[in-house]
Amino acid sequence: MQFEPEKCNIADERMKSFIDSEELWGYINNTHSTPERVREVIARSLQRKRLTLGETAVLINADDPALIEEIKKGASELKEKIYGNRIVLFAPLYIGNHCTNDCKYCGFRVSNKFAQRRTLTGRQIVKEVEALEDNGQKRLILVYGEHPGYGADYIARTVKLVYSVKKGNGEIRRVNINAAPLDIEGFRIVKDSGIGTYQIFQETYHRETYKKYHLGGQKRDFDYRLTALDRAQEAGLDDVGIGALFGLYDWRFELMGLVRHANHFEACYNVGPHTISFPRIQDAAAADIDPRYIVNDSDFVRLIAILRLAVPYTGLILTARENIDVRREVMKFGVSQIDGGTRLEMGSYSESLNEDQDLNREQFRINDSRSLNEIIDELLENGYLPSFCTACYRLGRTGQHFMEFSVPGFIKRYCTPNAILTLAEYLEDYAPESTARKGWKVIEENLWEMGENSRTANEIRRRIQLLKEGKRDLYF
Ligand code: SAM
Ligand code: SF4
Repeated sequence: MQFEPEKCNIADERMKSFIDSEELWGYINNTHSTPERVREVIARSLQRKRLTLGETAVLINADDPALIEEIKKGASELKEKIYGNRIVLFAPLYIGNHCTNDCKYCGFRVSNKFAQRRTLTGRQIVKEVEALEDNGQKRLILVYGEHPGYGADYIARTVKLVYSVKKGNGEIRRVNINAAPLDIEGFRIVKDSGIGTYQIFQETYHRETYKKYHLGGQKRDFDYRLTALDRAQEAGLDDVGIGALFGLYDWRFELMGLVRHANHFEACYNVGPHTISFPRIQDAAAADIDPRYIVNDSDFVRLIAILRLAVPYTGLILTARENIDVRREVMKFGVSQIDGGTRLEMGSYSESLNEDQDLNREQFRINDSRSLNEIIDELLENGYLPSFCTACYRLGRTGQHFMEFSVPGFIKRYCTPNAILTLAEYLEDYAPESTARKGWKVIEENLWEMGENSRTANEIRRRIQLLKEGKRDLYF
């Protein structure tokens, strides 16, 4: 059976709601999954085709454990084919937790009277970034509550400040943002500060549930949030990240919402979102969650595998909200970016604060507090290639332009070599000896796979030599 791809055929669809819950439930309730159809859809995805909503529903409705295994197998095959063994690393940096909204799942909600509010000063931001650079971080996501004090100009100023901090060989080469929706002019201002991705999670695509969880402030407006990244596109900011907070409503519906959102971007702007996030609700101070929709581990793995197949060219982000075992497990099915060395409490990268989380100072509980090096060490042990690559965005290979490059061969020509070079830098500058040993071995194995005497492998070797002689920031 063939499903029609979504079309952006109404000129003004771009700025109005494109989420119709009846339509999404219609697909879920009326799509029948037979083993043949499931295999057909997996095969289509393995040909690097983005799936339609109907095809996604075929995978969602496959409940037979054997078919679920086939979906997982398809997802890991696709990941291997498109992304190889690279995992891109980043860290979050919370800038301020003042917030005028009242989201029932969040420790920063305005009604949490016990929350300890703080906004980092310029000096504190510099200290935090220096500490992150000392650990080897190159990519950060800056996080802000929603507050008049954190407008576009303020965000842009903090971004520029972060880029200006250089310590030793350390520098931050890509700053992403997770903050409130802006108007078009606001997105323009933030884009001009040189950000990578602007992330906004819809939290839930289900209007009624959205209303139930967002009790106050600007964030109550479902449509203003839903159309935020369209305004970003209007402002020329084509590198955007979407997400849903799993646990608020039925995971199958949220998954359809994410795919609808991604397909909307493709249809209207010829470019999908750069990343999709799928945080699961964690414990938070003053949180008030209806437990009905909490997503268990096996459904979580399943939804990630389906997402991988549905949007082959979109990066999937998994964070330290998840515990070590879950992280290990789901990484096989299509995750391309993870955080490492994560701390949520403001100031905690540079100040030695209590090891235990104080939920009145932080947004939610994290379950993987390992250092960046511990995470890299484990990735290397398991045959992954940790990467700090920032080349595409710095060379303007984003948005539609980047999609053109998302063709077979691109990853091998650019991404893997850049992963190797950024890992080599990390090993030279920051890794303890035991991690360095593992890292050089993984680099050798990857070079060997390219063909011992291939031109790319030889060029990478030449650049590694330059790194050893003190050059930095070499990329393809
Ligand atoms: N204030 C901005 C906003 O709401 O868009 C920034 C986002 S917030 C600091 C980052 C994301 O964390 C939210 O979009 C939400 O999905 C997630 N989050 C909030 N509370 C959470 C919780 N208890 N467990 C897991 N994730 C949570
Ligand atoms: Fe504020 Fe964001 Fe937390 Fe909502 S999720 S209360 S907007 S920080």
